[in-house]
Amino acid sequence: MAHLNIAIDGPAGSGKSTIAKHIANTMGILYLDTGAMYRAMALKMIRKGISIQDAEAVKKELPTTEVFAENKNGTQVTYLDGEDVSSLIRTNEVSKGASDIAVIPEVRIKLVALQRKIAEMSDVVMDGRDIGSYVIPNTVNKFYVTATPQERARRRLLELHQKGMNLDKTLEEMRDEIVARDKVDSSREFAPLVRTEDAIYVDTTDMSIEDAVNYVMERIQK
Ligand code: C5P
Repeated sequence: MAHLNIAIDGPAGSGKSTIAKHIANTMGILYLDTGAMYRAMALKMIRKGISIQDAEAVKKELPTTEVFAENKNGTQVTYLDGEDVSSLIRTNEVSKGASDIAVIPEVRIKLVALQRKIAEMSDVVMDGRDIGSYVIPNTVNKFYVTATPQERARRRLLELHQKGMNLDKTLEEMRDEIVARDKVDSSREFAPLVRTEDAIYVDTTDMSIEDAVNYVMERIQK
């Protein structure tokens, strides 16, 4: 029997991961944060002092780099070469690095293979940028979640502040970073962030989390 695969794409801070997590919890199925995998890859290069702009050097590291994600008590744990890096991949430096490394096709091919295997084996809600357009394009459950850049920056800053990070960053600086990351994500050649025609569009700018979750839940075809 085919598994229930739900694709939730959208830019940073759109609320897609909050929605995806809620849905996975409510339905009792797996949640996969694919962005964490690109983040782990970026962390590897940062640690090794490899410039992410140097695609050849990054590609050389791929055969000996193992990125893996598993669900522990409803929370994703992301591993890099066997080490739990879940909390280390949330810095701004890694966010920027993830966006840059995600441009390299070979990096994507390696991570997408793992994501597809998970989708084949289990009922899963995946969030990312290319899930509905490239990773599992045949699923009927596709959502494109977004919000205005100002609102996304506000949410992102709040999230970082709650963790005690980036306390001196202004909303404008955050918005500029988010807009720059959107540009890299949607203008790359291979599997960019796109809103496919068959994806249900969800603008969360003025929605509460509860409303957004309910909206998506009601539209999932079981
Ligand atoms: O979702 P998150 O902000 O953690 O993703 C970090 C970066 O990883 C994104 O900016 C994007 O460039 C990349 N990414 C991607 N494809 C995905 C998920 C994330 O290219 N499916």
